[in-house]
Amino acid sequence: MNIVIFGSPGAGKGTQAKIIAVEHGLSHLSSGQLSRQMLNNKQLGKKIKGYMDKGELIPNAIIIKIVKDYIEKNKREKGFIFDGYPRTLGQARELDKLAKQSKTRIGLVINLKLDQQEALKRILKRGKSSGRSDDNLKTIETRLKVYKKLTEPILGYYKANGILKEVDGRQSITKITKEIKKIIKEVEKKK
Ligand code: ADP
Repeated sequence: MNIVIFGSPGAGKGTQAKIIAVEHGLSHLSSGQLSRQMLNNKQLGKKIKGYMDKGELIPNAIIIKIVKDYIEKNKREKGFIFDGYPRTLGQARELDKLAKQSKTRIGLVINLKLDQQEALKRILKRGKSSGRSDDNLKTIETRLKVYKKLTEPILGYYKANGILKEVDGRQSITKITKEIKKIIKEVEKKK
């Protein structure tokens, strides 16, 4: 099954996606991580860094290619867990198209819910050790705004598809993992 782990910056998507990928044998696609790996790229590195440092979205023409390449190289029978992608309605539609071409689909979207105040606190704390140039107050504020404006509306799209489940992101890492695993089990049973 293909899963999307959804939520605002700082909600804990990456942490959970990593654990769930290992435990369920899924390929973990983190668009943020893939973008950071591109920073040394001669042609695109500077451009990508510009968007990331401002907290703005990398244009679709670039990010969709990065995501597609990763999908092509990392296909597994059990599927993918998508973390940080899709981030716009256009990306969500693109992902559905891609899945269809591979005769598969997104079977589950987990929304890790966390309020903006808490998200901001967490990212600032992470910034002290992450070394990420985008974990500073100004950039985080932009990232949260971009999330509200462009990313959150995707929830309506997935809700209409009937594949959206919500998890309280304020809980401990272990508790959240447990809840997600329970949801995956239930969804797999229904298939
Ligand atoms: P966070 O979720 O904490 O903001 P990410 O590592 O997921 O961290 O993303 C960091 C940055 O990478 C974003 O602010 C954006 O510039 C870029 N990025 C990641 N995923 C996408 C995407 N799907 N579309 C456009 N830009 C993206």
